[in-house]
Amino acid sequence: MIVRFHETPMASIYRLRIIAFSFLLLLFLAAILLSFIILDRQQYDAALINIVGRQRMLAQQMTLEAVLVQTFPQTEYRQALSNTTYESFEKTLIALTEGGQIILPTGETFIVRSSSDAEIQKQLLVIHGGWEEIDQAIHVVLEENPQRGDLNAGIEKIIGLTPRLILELDKAVQLYETASNRNTARLQAIQIGFLAAAALMLGALIVITNQRVLRPIQLLGDAATRIGKGDLKTPLAVAGLEEINLLAKNLDDMREKLRTAMQTQTALVTLSQCHLKVTEEEKAIECAVRIAAQVLEADYSAVALLDPDDRLILRAAWGQATKRVIGMELEQGDKSQTGYTILREEPVLVQDYSQLTEFSVPPLVSQYKLSSGLSVPMLSRGKVIGAMLAHSKTPRHFDQDAIPKLSLIANQTAITVDKIRLHDETRQLAFTDELTGLYNRRHFIKLASMEVDRAFRYKHSLAFMIFDLDRFKQVNDTYGHPAGDQVLKTVASLAHQELRDIDLLGRYGGEEFVILLVETGRKDARAIAERIRKRIARTPITVAQDKISITISLGVSTLSSRCNSLTSLIKASDRALYIAKETGRNKTIFAGS
Ligand code: GH3
Ligand code: MG
Ligand code: MG
Repeated sequence: MIVRFHETPMASIYRLRIIAFSFLLLLFLAAILLSFIILDRQQYDAALINIVGRQRMLAQQMTLEAVLVQTFPQTEYRQALSNTTYESFEKTLIALTEGGQIILPTGETFIVRSSSDAEIQKQLLVIHGGWEEIDQAIHVVLEENPQRGDLNAGIEKIIGLTPRLILELDKAVQLYETASNRNTARLQAIQIGFLAAAALMLGALIVITNQRVLRPIQLLGDAATRIGKGDLKTPLAVAGLEEINLLAKNLDDMREKLRTAMQTQTALVTLSQCHLKVTEEEKAIECAVRIAAQVLEADYSAVALLDPDDRLILRAAWGQATKRVIGMELEQGDKSQTGYTILREEPVLVQDYSQLTEFSVPPLVSQYKLSSGLSVPMLSRGKVIGAMLAHSKTPRHFDQDAIPKLSLIANQTAITVDKIRLHDETRQLAFTDELTGLYNRRHFIKLASMEVDRAFRYKHSLAFMIFDLDRFKQVNDTYGHPAGDQVLKTVASLAHQELRDIDLLGRYGGEEFVILLVETGRKDARAIAERIRKRIARTPITVAQDKISITISLGVSTLSSRCNSLTSLIKASDRALYIAKETGRNKTIFAGS
């Protein structure tokens, strides 16, 4: 048996593995990617915190420069204050609030994104507020030619307001740090989530592999061992991946096929044993119908045999009301299922009698509500002797495998029937005369000597007679040898009818017959001899178109101390017969009288 994996487009075991591993890979990649994101984010946050820290430094620088301007109101000091406040502090503050580019002291450009944190935004507004107040004072200080008093007041204001700005900037640094830590923690939680999902998937994969692959494979192994040990009855129930299920199904089909094969084999052995024992045709076909029904799980089975007149007779049946159908004559010829089987020497399988068009529905089928049927010829020595039939109440019950199975049973039965017939015929030929059916000379002598010995020993009476047809030659000469044969048959049958079952009647030679009458004395023997003679004489025998009358002559002797063996009885009767012939024929003569 070939297990066809290509039936599924992609083996599901591989598909499952690919999906699971792709997922795992994705989860790991996501976790790694997150590490980079976290790192990048942390670097950005650190730079941002540095920038805010630098703002704090600038605020301090602002104070110092304001003091310097107070002492040295020259243009370069005022320019330095202007640079610190506007070029560095204000531009950075705007970039922090709205997002933008910042040139770091190292000369590098740093892109600031506006923070999405509401608290930071609020704090930046506060810083803006503080800065604006300082900014107004700085404006006064940086005017072209400020009044000394205004200059001092401005500087005082700058020095007075800056510490609050520094404090607010400190607060901002803290807020940035908190936000950064919160962000990092959130991303790390996601990363841990990805890793946990990967671990879960791996676990699930192990569990699924165990349940859908390893366990079913173990069950398959157990089943194979069971089958190997000869348990063909237990069906296989495995639920796993597609391919394993397919494998299990194929194994189970194989088990079922083996089971039926074994069952068939056992049934055939039983059939052989039965056929070895039986000596009668009837018994041989009875075994066959029983076993055929068993092997094919049929509801009905039957054997129909051709009789010596070529009539097709149902001889054995298994199922319901079998007695009623036995002896039934079946239709022959092309139009009947059994007839066709015998005529063509071919099996005929009808899957559904309700859709049958080729043949007339067999009588059994409508009688017993059968739906499908198979018939096969019974062949022995190249000759069809009948047909074997199996029927089921289920449509399409028989598959193609049923044909060789039923043929095997049918042919073995045909051979047995043939053998029994041959044996019976041979035995018949050994004991009897073919033409008349009476005992032949050899067998008659065998049986008669036993009877004579027994009668002599126990002193029982016994009579022996020989009769011969009178002028039989003339019958042959007039009507021919076959007509003569017919006369011989009729005479034998008439003599037989006048005798008891215990008497022996045999054909001694051409047209000579012998009779042994047990427990019969001289008087009774005479009466019987005369009865036979008269019966034959008065019975006209039809030969060709004529009715002729036949007579016989009889020689009779009885057992006595002088005539005490079969040989002496034959001799004595023969002599008496001779006298009967000599003295006119159609009479009975007793030996020694
Ligand atoms: P009878 O006995 O009265 O003296 O005259 P018969 O004509 O019967 O003479 P006989 O007994 O000598 O003849 C025997 C004849 O029987 C000769 C033979 O042709 C015939 N016969 C012997 N056996 C058979 C047989 O099996 N079939 C036929 N048709 N004829 C047979
Ligand atoms: Mg004769
Ligand atoms: Mg004769």
